Amino acid sequence: MRAVFICSAQYSGSTLLNLLLGTHPDAAALGEITHLPKNLALDTPCSCGESARRCPVWRQVLARVRCFPQWREIDEDPYVLHLGMIRAGKVIDPRHQTRARLLYRKILYGAAFAHFRWGLGPLAPFVAPLYRGSRNKLALFRIVSEVLGADVLVDSSKHYLEAVSLYKTAPSDVRVILLTRDGRAVYSSALKRGSSKKSAALEWRRTYARAIPLLRKHVHPDHLIQVRYEDLVLAPERELARLCGFLGLEYTAEMLDFRSKRHHVLNGNDMRLSPVAEIRPDFAWRERLSPRDLGYFDTHAGALNRMLGYA
Ligand SMILES: [Zn+2]
Repeated sequence: MRAVFICSAQYSGSTLLNLLLGTHPDAAALGEITHLPKNLALDTPCSCGESARRCPVWRQVLARVRCFPQWREIDEDPYVLHLGMIRAGKVIDPRHQTRARLLYRKILYGAAFAHFRWGLGPLAPFVAPLYRGSRNKLALFRIVSEVLGADVLVDSSKHYLEAVSLYKTAPSDVRVILLTRDGRAVYSSALKRGSSKKSAALEWRRTYARAIPLLRKHVHPDHLIQVRYEDLVLAPERELARLCGFLGLEYTAEMLDFRSKRHHVLNGNDMRLSPVAEIRPDFAWRERLSPRDLGYFDTHAGALNRMLGYA
């Protein structure tokens, strides 16, 4: 079993990349699997058409998960299967995602970042919940790999701290894809969904300003690859072939028709539920952003965007 972690900001095409890779006959798309306990608690829709608890694949997985003593209570309390700390933006379980938990996550993640970035020893205990989530994820992946007969499991949980902790837990079994998209497109998507200019620009900048040095420090260069959303949607064949080479898979053209396979993705954006298989490049931000909006982004995040190759 090998795991592939897609690390990116929001609105960067991670659901699309997850589905494309998961369409390979030896792979499976798991979406933002960190949210699995929440999806079970709320019984949200699976991309196969069933609900999380009725999906035949997740039912088989849960039957095996229940055999582990620490997860025996998963039916009563899905959160015993801790896969990481959840901060959902859209599908929220208000009984679990409380203000206190969000505050705890914020403090813990700040300290964990400082520990990973600068090796601050006294902050090591703050990383423990991340490592626990990663160990549980790898155990879950082994079960899913057996149930689906898939060797490569694709996790698009996105967060750089989860990427680093998963990789450090099993460096020989984990590969990391850093997915980037023109920051102005991400900024435009966030504005469209009601974010302020400040939080839209700064959230994008913070993600990559933190992710890049962390991944370079902790992930072996042969185990890390950058993919640009723009290349993926304009030349999907070439990019998927390159990714297959990186993952030790043989490229097959059926990957492009990502609806040709039944996926079992419980969390990700709504395209996981849509029947449309088209890879539709989205460059609407070029018309949508006003010169004023563009100016704001350029002042606050333009330098990093250019560094990533977006002129
Ligand atoms: Zn399903």
